[in-house]
Amino acid sequence: MTTNETLARNDVAYQFHSYTNAPRLREEGPCIMARGNGIHVYDTEGKEYIEGMSGLWSVAVGFSEPRLAEAARRQMECLPFYHTFSQKSNVPSIELAEKLIGLTGGRMAQAFFTNSGSEANDTIVKMVWYYNNALGRPAKKKIIARKRGYHGVTVASASLTGLEGNHRSFDLPLPQIRHARCPHWYREGLPGETETAFADRLAAELEALILEEGPDTVAAFIGEPVMGAGGVVVPPATYWPKMQAVCRKYDVLVIADEVITGFGRTGKMFASELYGIEPDFMTLSKQLTSSYLPLAAVLMNERVASVLARHSGELGTFGHGYTASGHPVAAAVALENIRVIEERGLVANAAAAGAVLQRRLRELADHPLVGEVRGVGLIAAVELVADKAARTPFDPLGKAGAQVVRRAQDNGLILRGIQDSLAFCPPLIITEPQVETLADRFAQSLEEAARSL
Ligand code: PMP
Repeated sequence: MTTNETLARNDVAYQFHSYTNAPRLREEGPCIMARGNGIHVYDTEGKEYIEGMSGLWSVAVGFSEPRLAEAARRQMECLPFYHTFSQKSNVPSIELAEKLIGLTGGRMAQAFFTNSGSEANDTIVKMVWYYNNALGRPAKKKIIARKRGYHGVTVASASLTGLEGNHRSFDLPLPQIRHARCPHWYREGLPGETETAFADRLAAELEALILEEGPDTVAAFIGEPVMGAGGVVVPPATYWPKMQAVCRKYDVLVIADEVITGFGRTGKMFASELYGIEPDFMTLSKQLTSSYLPLAAVLMNERVASVLARHSGELGTFGHGYTASGHPVAAAVALENIRVIEERGLVANAAAAGAVLQRRLRELADHPLVGEVRGVGLIAAVELVADKAARTPFDPLGKAGAQVVRRAQDNGLILRGIQDSLAFCPPLIITEPQVETLADRFAQSLEEAARSL
């Protein structure tokens, strides 16, 4: 048996996989990646793929940036670990916190570090509850998220996530969580309804929900500026200002989960800038370190930070924190990653290469299988439908998407199928000619899948 066969056998035998159909993994085996270079990854057989999803929406600077490796090595040799509990700190975490606050133009005031986006959102839930306890409003605890939203998988963040598969079998969501309508005009808009009228309706629904629950019980509203894992849903232009105005009216905190959209994905450093969101909390991860190391950050504005700092809780301290909160090696890698993003103009590249991606994908809009093409900057989705005029989904849902993903993988392109939407989220370093190659491979894969559907 070859080494590769042994690896595949051992993977199936010894590793329980995330988000994987276990019987199918046993039957078909894993695709094991061995190395990366720029926008490409190579499996153990040596086959090259364009990583059209940046791994998990995350590898901004590509798969072979030596400056990040060097930053990690330098920090490992200097101080490999130190924490941020009980008045201790370390140099990279301080510099990173300052850098992140600077990137928001001072709109946010302080950063708290975690290992993952899920932990960051769990931290925000606890901070929101703690904030209202500190203000003497113990009833104000409910958090409104959205259907199809994705905020992670730990107990509180999976509750915020608005996907059935993260709830039903896990006895979730928690009772304090509500889910509002998804701002997906193509699927949720009424016949003849404009995007603006749709956004007005969603804001009115949010207000009705807050009034029904009781404004004294609703603490916060959370959303991704552009939804990612729920199918790349780009909201109408007026959606965020309208939703935010309703939140302000009822003293409901606004949480922008920028785990995917942060650090240039939409062609702005943060998508909050794009949509005029003035969040009380921001969640950052993934492109923060290009996922070379696990790290996430909760940013909070002065309004929140001043209350959390003033009130020290029953322990006499803020009773929350992770061993690796502010991990110096992860923070050093994040700082270097942000320097690379800034020095190489990768935010501007996301706008320019993104324009090519959006144009090339929209050229497929007349294809009989394509229902909608949507996206902004270097994030996009192509939604396939069985009947274009009636917008009828495939039965079973996801069948067409899975076929295209398989064809694309054969053709050297890794995509994500979200039901029948194909998601695109290539590294921010992608060049315009590479976008053309990616789009050519996708168009070919779509054609091949169409023939067999
Ligand atoms: N929020 C958003 C918007 C995400 O896309 C994700 C991960 N896909 C998370 C939170 C959770 O992050 P993690 O997987 O690091 O826990």
